[in-house]
This record gives sequence, C-alpha cells and structure tokens, in this order.
Amino acid sequence: NEDQFKKVISHAKEYGYVFQSSEIYDGLSAVYDYAQNGAELKKNIRDYWWKAMVQMHDNIVGIDAAIFMHPTTWKASGHVDAFSDPLIDNKDSKKRYRADVLVEDYCLKIEAKIEKEVKKAEKRFGESFNKEEFISTNGRVVGYQEKIDTILKRLGQSLEKEDLADVKALIEELEIACPVAGSRNWTDVKQFNLMFGTKLGASAETAMDLYLRPETAQGIFVNFLNVQKTGRLKIPFGIAQTGKAFRNEIVARQFIFRMREFEQMEMQFFIKPGTQKKWFEHWKETRMKWHLSLGMGEENYRFHDHEKLAHYADAATDIEFKFPFGFKELEGIHSRTDFDLKQHEEFSGKKLQYFDHEDNESYTPYVLETSIGLDRMFLAVFSNALVEEELEDGKTRTVLKLPAVLAPVKAAIFPLLAKDGLPEVAKKIVEDLKWDFNVAYEEKDTVGRRYRRQDANGTPFCITVDHDTLEDNTVTIRHRDTMDQKRVKIEDLKEIIKAEVDV
Ligand code: ATP
Repeated sequence: NEDQFKKVISHAKEYGYVFQSSEIYDGLSAVYDYAQNGAELKKNIRDYWWKAMVQMHDNIVGIDAAIFMHPTTWKASGHVDAFSDPLIDNKDSKKRYRADVLVEDYCLKIEAKIEKEVKKAEKRFGESFNKEEFISTNGRVVGYQEKIDTILKRLGQSLEKEDLADVKALIEELEIACPVAGSRNWTDVKQFNLMFGTKLGASAETAMDLYLRPETAQGIFVNFLNVQKTGRLKIPFGIAQTGKAFRNEIVARQFIFRMREFEQMEMQFFIKPGTQKKWFEHWKETRMKWHLSLGMGEENYRFHDHEKLAHYADAATDIEFKFPFGFKELEGIHSRTDFDLKQHEEFSGKKLQYFDHEDNESYTPYVLETSIGLDRMFLAVFSNALVEEELEDGKTRTVLKLPAVLAPVKAAIFPLLAKDGLPEVAKKIVEDLKWDFNVAYEEKDTVGRRYRRQDANGTPFCITVDHDTLEDNTVTIRHRDTMDQKRVKIEDLKEIIKAEVDV
C-alpha cells in the first residue's frame, strides 16, 4: 500500500541506501544514486546473480560489453523502428501519460470499486453471501469486470500502430466506467521512441549518431561468435552480462522501479532450434528457484505468461513480484528464436552460425533469454525486508530483514563502554573479521540504541565486547531477526557469521 511504499522510500534515504540524483539541484527525474549501503546491497545482489548464473554453470560465461555500440546494431535489433511506448496527453491538465499504464491504472481503480461493492454486499447478506454469484448477477459490477477483461486482453504486451486509435477510445470508455476519472479531453495516442541519442566525434559534419544502449542483450548477440569460438563453447551454452541500460521512459514513477538509467542482469542461452520449449520451461523453473532461494516468501511471486508476443518471441513469461504497489514484473524470460542473430547476419553481412560437430551441420542457434532489472530486484528485496515489529514490552522496532547474504554490513562490533580497554578489543575483532566480511564499528549511544540502529540498517549480527571479554575472550552475539543473544568465543565468530551469510 501507499503508506508502506512511502516508508520504504524514506527509509532508503535515511539509512544511506538510495538518494535522488543531484539532490542539491532539486534532483533529476527518475534518476537515482546508490549511497554507501545501497551500493553494497546492489553489489551483493549482482554477485548473487553472477554466482548462480556464471560460476555455478559450466556452460555459461560472462562478458562486459560497452554501452556504446555501432548504430546499425539498433536498426538490426528493431529498436530504431519499434522500441517505443504509446504516449497520450491530457489537454486540460497538460499531463503526459503512457497510454497502457493509464489504462492499467483505470483498471485497478475499477477493480477496487468492485471490491468495495462486494464488501458492502458481504456486510448486507452476511454468511449467506456468495461472491461469485454476486459478481455474475449484479449488472453494475459485471459491466466493469467485462470492460476490464476486454481491455486487458487487447492491450497485451506491446501495442501495434493500428491499436493506437483503439487505445484512445478505450481510455475514454474507461473514464465513463470509472467515476474517479477526470476530464475527457485527450490528444491522439503517439508512439514515442525510448532510446537516448548522443554523438561520437569532434566535428559536427563527421560526428556519428549513437544511442545509449536500451538493453544489454545486443552486446551479447554481436559477440556471440567471438565468445563461442574463443571459449570453444558447445551448444547449449549461455553468455551472461550485467550493466547499465538507458530508456527515456515517458512517465517514470515508483522510485527505482522505473528509472531512466538502470542496470540489467541478462543471460542469453544459445540452443538448437526445436529445443526451445524444453529450455523455456527449464529457465522458468531455474530462475524461480533462484528467487525462492532468498527466502522472501513464495506467495510474493507469480508467473505471468504473455498471450500477445513481441515480434521476436515465440514464448514469454514474466516473474512478477509483490511490490508495495502490487504484483509487477521483476524479470522476463523470453524465447527469442533466431530473430536477433538472423537480423545481425542480415545487417552486418557476416555469418553468425554454429557448426554442430555431433550432427555435422551448421545452423543459426535459437536463444532463450532471462532478463532481470538489478534496481527492480533491489526494490523487491528492500521493500520486502522492511518491517515494523511489535515487541513484548509494547514498543515497536523497525527491522530491515534483508537476506543475510545480501546485507551490506554483516556484523557490527560494539564495546559496551567506550573505555576500560573495551574499544581496543572491539577494534581488534573488526581488524580480524574485515578480511572476510564487511563489518562496522560503533561506540556511541547505549547498546540498546546501537542494536536498533543496526536492526534498521539490516545488519544480521551485533557483537558486544564487555568486561567479561577481558577475562575469558568471549563476546555476546545478537541475532537481528530473533534478537537472541549468545555468549561465544571470539575465535568462533568467523564460522558463526559465515554459516549465515555464505551461500
Ligand atoms: P516494463 O514493461 O516494466 O517497462 P519491459 O518489459 O520493457 O519492462 P524488458 O525490456 O523485458 O522490460 O527488460 C527486462 C527487465 O529490465 C525488466 O523485467 C525490469 O526488471 C528491468 N527494467 C526495464 N525497464 C526498466 C526501467 N526503466 N527501470 C528499471 N528497470 C527496468
């Protein structure tokens, strides 16, 4: 809900996770900076992905292609002609909308209205109330439901040019169904290309028009044969990469969910034509397992299979996550056929074929793609972790229950008091542990306060050095989630922390 989302945004700022870009100049819309803790969390998510995708797979290698690419790349990939979103302006409010997002918003409002009607009826009819029956017999509600269904079906995943007039009509129709809507004075729907352009070269005459890449995938396709040959890779094999991508999003909302500069983690898996169904299922399952391994709750994920497919795909699904504003796409899994390699063959004039020694034949491989936004994953992890807990004494505590493997700081080490030689012992522990983990030292405030601060920061362990430590080399280790405290030997700390934070 909205309140929870506001808390997420302000917590991310207060604890040094995410800042608005160029804040002193009032910020830049839909561009964000990762602060001291955010950079660590982001790096840990990236590493967790890289480890699972590259290190753990004998047949997947990683590359790091440049952001700038030859401009023909984007003609071949279809981005110059077709990488656009439908845009609509409201003539009265002068506000600009992405038409498909606007429709979705209306649908949500209408759905909320249906829910309300159902609740009212529930109250009125008590236990005898049958929701399904009510929805199917109550004309008013059914009217809305049917509209939503038709509209969502027609919108599908990507809009064709001929759909644009229809979309405008749909928006106007929805406004009638949705009493919360404002005016009915819209411009026509236009397609707006999302690529950022720039120039390479010093003089105006010779400068070359370039684009900032809107996805990392094309850097993999154009390197496909070089990597395959130098790596002596046999199909099936994958190429993975993480890196920045840029999109001039029409309306960027929802914090780091939709940014103009963001990072992707993509993997292209090259397979024999005809095996794509099997591999599509394989990667759906493998990617979902990766998500579930973080322990963020099975109920927070679902697949959304695409009915209407992009021109390059023969199957596609999204892994959706329950963000504070509802279930939304977190990752896409696409069966891209040989579309991309064939296009690059055509535009470059170079063969991009694979010779299969076993079958003694050459072919253009098919591709299965997994594509996840690093920033979106950050938002999923961060928003899911932020909880307010009622304590036994009636107080509440704010805890950031980040998966330990992703937490920016793994342990904070405190001297109980900033005297009597306790800081020296605590600092010695920091010196020893920092070879293996990112750790922090704190001596200000009461230990209780320091615990709360580390809880809110997501630190899985707090370690306190007290006067007994000087006698017996033991410390108190406190667990963030259970708040359990144990007395352990200093020499065992590394293993205890490792057991929790290593994968
Ligand atoms: P959406 O429908 O939300 O615009 P998309 O379907 O265009 O996303 P893809 O092109 O499939 O997204 O990109 C793959 C992944 O990259 C998405 O699942 C998402 O996690 C991430 N992503 C895409 N656009 C953005 C953005 N503007 N900001 C942050 N992450 C993004």
